[in-house]
Amino acid sequence: MSSSKKDPYKVLGVPRNATETDIKKAYRKLARKNHPDINPGNDTAEAKFKEIAEAYSILSDPDQRASYDRYGWGGLGATAGGTGGDPFAGFGFGDIFSSIFSDFFGGGRTSSRRSTSGRSIRIILPITFEEAAAGIEKKIDVKKNVTCSVCNGSRAAQGTSPKRCPICNGSGTERIQQRTPFGIMINETTCRNCRGLGEIIDNPCPQCRGSGMEQKSKKITVKVPAGINDGQRLRVPGEGEPGPRGYPPGDLYVDIQLKEHQYFQRERNELIYNLKINFAQAALGDTVYVPTLVKGEKAKLKIPAGTQNDTIFRLKGKGFPNLSGFGKGDMHIIVRIQTPKKLTSQEKEIFTELKNLWNPPSDKEKKKK
Ligand SMILES: [Zn+2]
Ligand SMILES: [Zn+2]
Repeated sequence: MSSSKKDPYKVLGVPRNATETDIKKAYRKLARKNHPDINPGNDTAEAKFKEIAEAYSILSDPDQRASYDRYGWGGLGATAGGTGGDPFAGFGFGDIFSSIFSDFFGGGRTSSRRSTSGRSIRIILPITFEEAAAGIEKKIDVKKNVTCSVCNGSRAAQGTSPKRCPICNGSGTERIQQRTPFGIMINETTCRNCRGLGEIIDNPCPQCRGSGMEQKSKKITVKVPAGINDGQRLRVPGEGEPGPRGYPPGDLYVDIQLKEHQYFQRERNELIYNLKINFAQAALGDTVYVPTLVKGEKAKLKIPAGTQNDTIFRLKGKGFPNLSGFGKGDMHIIVRIQTPKKLTSQEKEIFTELKNLWNPPSDKEKKKK
């Protein structure tokens, strides 16, 4: 059952927003410690090592990581066993992610698509509260491997061309005969001469050193819908790395990271604001202006006389819009009455006067006796 499987993030001890480098580092450290060669005969270490290797295989592959992040083990298809429940459980987004569904659940195309398309790229996009509320088009620089502009992906220097591999005759697979107690076994493995490419290059392209790819930065415009929240993911189809010859490119996954705000906190689509007022405003009542998610716009709020600490006022519709485009959250203003820490001599006089008025010294004297 999938429920017995451990969270790969926990297995590697990395946070969910860990970078590829963090994941690699954590994996190397744990793998070294639990390697079967270092712990011969130790079954626990071996089991742990397998667990670590499996966690790493998922988190190091952007496609698989994306799938795990979204659907847990249920999204990992053949590698993860049964889903053991509703893969959509706990999934509360609008239609913007429907294209992901069709990819991952579209008639079992998943595995074939994954192996034959280009690698997906995952980036983190930090946005402000205001941008999340209004929606925004962001131009982002994505560094990715693209087809080499000099050799056009052929990997061979100009004026030359790749030759068919003589060992595998261009098939990329090699047949190895093995004598076993059950007779001769023929194993098909990746050709070692051409590493499965079926071609040999005598004069590699100098620009890409025979890889067929070069790293380029590309500006990609990402539409961030109004109402998006921290940790949600957008997919830009086809903006990943190019696929092997004749195959489609991978996708770009954009993980939204909501930056902290100077004044606000967010709870689903509700906006929370702590309003600091003093004793006089609380006692007498006042009219104040509070910041909103619209830049430069302030909302007017009337504080009634006798307002207590922790009172919550609600401004309807001043929160985040729903991703669906229908409805908006509210803004919750929590009153935080501030006690002055330093008093001027005049303030001290007035407070003393109040104190004597509310707590006459004669009463105290009486209590003491
Ligand atoms: Zn090249
Ligand atoms: Zn070959």
